[in-house]
Amino acid sequence: MVDKVRHVLGISGGKDSAALAVYMRDKVPEMEYFFTDTGAELPEVYEYLDRLEGELNKPIVRLGLERDFGHLLLQHNGFLPSPSTRWCTREMKIRPFEKWVGTDNAITYVAIRADEDRDGYKSSSPNITPRFPFKEDGIVRADIDRILQHIGWPKYYEWRSRSGCYFCFFQRKSEWIALAERHPELFERAKAFEKSDTGSGKGYTWSQGETLEELIARAADVRQQAAFSGRRIRRKIGWQELFGALEDESDESCLVCSL
Ligand code: SF4
Repeated sequence: MVDKVRHVLGISGGKDSAALAVYMRDKVPEMEYFFTDTGAELPEVYEYLDRLEGELNKPIVRLGLERDFGHLLLQHNGFLPSPSTRWCTREMKIRPFEKWVGTDNAITYVAIRADEDRDGYKSSSPNITPRFPFKEDGIVRADIDRILQHIGWPKYYEWRSRSGCYFCFFQRKSEWIALAERHPELFERAKAFEKSDTGSGKGYTWSQGETLEELIARAADVRQQAAFSGRRIRRKIGWQELFGALEDESDESCLVCSL
């Protein structure tokens, strides 16, 4: 008997994975769509998933966590995840996904575009094989709008450049300020995770070099700086490429979370 191969496609809540889901809809009808719900998602993401299910005419399986972020943080001795210690991706994205696939042979479709210079997530499980349809077919950023013409982009792109947890340490300082304005309750929750180590005088902070409290106190400065870099970039490259430039600014961001 030949083993059945599963075809799976992870929706991150971002535009590229949504576009890949729409792109593959008729090419691989047996596709299983999934979303790894960290419990720390923006409300705009849930709204967009509902719209996307309508477009795909198929449910998106929601994979939950066995333990929420608060528990995981305790397990990691209160150390917030950071770009150099990215335990969150392993615990909240990769582990639930690999558990869901189990020992099945699966092809996972990854939304890395042909104009991106990165490899993306490769599972260490030998039964999971990645495929990169956008790379194979030469799909670039300009094609994404066309593919998503019926449902558009998730609404958080009005104020944030990437998908991911509301407390993601990859977000820019100006995006933290926008989070405080758009979702003050989430900003407060993120603040509560920051722990001060009164003994050494050092604290663990989401944003480099300062607590969220300190960051919000200089919101006007941060906004001014963001507007200034925006103007500098615009002078060099023009509006149409501005979004791309801002996105590429943080290219080391989570390859699993923001596809
Ligand atoms: S989105 Fe950010 S905080 Fe969330 S799992 Fe990915 S890297 Fe970690």
